Amino acid sequence: MALVVQKYGGTSVANVERIRAVAERVISRKRKGDDLVVVLSARAGETDSLIRLAREMTPKPDPRELDVLLSVGEQITVALFSMAVKDMGYEAVSMTGYQAGIITDCCYGQARIHWIETLPVMDKLHDGKIVVVAGFQGYDEEGNITTLGRGGSDTTAVALAAALGADLCEIYTDVEGVFTADPNICSKARKLEKISYEEMLEMASMGAKVLHLRSVEFGMKYHVPIMVLSSFIDAPGTLVTKEDDDMERVVVSGITYNRNEARITVTNVPDVPGMAARLFRPISDANINVDLIVQGSGSTPGVVNMSFTVPKSDYEKTIAIAQGVAAEIGAGTVHSNPDIAKISIIGLGMRNHSGVATKMFETLARENINIKMITTSEIKISAIIDEKYTELAVRVLHDAFELEKEPPGGVMKVKEES
Ligand code: ASP
Ligand code: MG
Repeated sequence: MALVVQKYGGTSVANVERIRAVAERVISRKRKGDDLVVVLSARAGETDSLIRLAREMTPKPDPRELDVLLSVGEQITVALFSMAVKDMGYEAVSMTGYQAGIITDCCYGQARIHWIETLPVMDKLHDGKIVVVAGFQGYDEEGNITTLGRGGSDTTAVALAAALGADLCEIYTDVEGVFTADPNICSKARKLEKISYEEMLEMASMGAKVLHLRSVEFGMKYHVPIMVLSSFIDAPGTLVTKEDDDMERVVVSGITYNRNEARITVTNVPDVPGMAARLFRPISDANINVDLIVQGSGSTPGVVNMSFTVPKSDYEKTIAIAQGVAAEIGAGTVHSNPDIAKISIIGLGMRNHSGVATKMFETLARENINIKMITTSEIKISAIIDEKYTELAVRVLHDAFELEKEPPGGVMKVKEES
């Protein structure tokens, strides 16, 4: 007998039929003898329509009241789901974030979980009930309702699993798991049987569509195995877990792309201490996340060019800030390009294999794809390229690293260079 936390996303509980189907799935698991905590999202589209409703009321909704409103979406599904389970003759009890003891900071709309009072859920589990918890919500120390940020129900589920010492956290969604690349643009993409927490975090652009990133951080910190799988079909999913020897052997596990960044270059920045700080301070003060930064030599000695990327949504704001700073510090012009994409290859095995970056660059060169910026971490290499080559780049890299093949146990995918 195991304690399992299951989370079902918005499409899995989109309407009464779907909710009933999920109730049947949960009951059949219960019959096998497992103890179940079920975390639910709001019905697909519900949170968006609540946000629209608030904006109809006022262009700038009060953050506290917005969280009160948004928390309603999940309360609808837990109530309906528990009704369905009871109708089928089983014991269930719905709980709001407050009732389930999920205590957060007071950062409305983006709250972080501080701790979980497990007694209320434990009590109900001991009574033999299926405990159904509203995802995405908690309360702060003053008792205000808070929400955890979009997609936050995953984090509720993994945090609950950690706090309850559950054996497994299953995240049911509308995709079958984590793939080697986006199957929509790469027909050879293959579902991964398992992947490490570290790789999943690095897969932010792809991973975030599947799992809320903070849920992966929780899983990693508290060693909660997370299984990502579809609620629409019966097929094994992808296990996100601690790294093991098999994972180490695979050099590249996945390829991701991100078209949501834009590049900005400030030319001829005086090459003296403090210039990067002058440039990036007002950008971070404006809450803009800078991703890649590359500094290169300028047109004459004593000056440098600084290129960096920001989310496309902050592109225009950043240009204005950069132009202001450039004028202040006596730099040159500000160039920009929103039509770029970031292609990344990710894999634990990169730590012990050389030649991976070279193979990536050669593969792109063969297709005449120009690399504009490069950045690396221990287990990831990213290149900025022209956006129009995104699909091509993903496909040729997928081929080059032979990701369509199941990793043959013990065989390395690229030769180690002597
Ligand atoms: N309902 C929330 C959202 O749409 C939380 C979630 O689904 O995880 O973002
Ligand atoms: Mg989600």
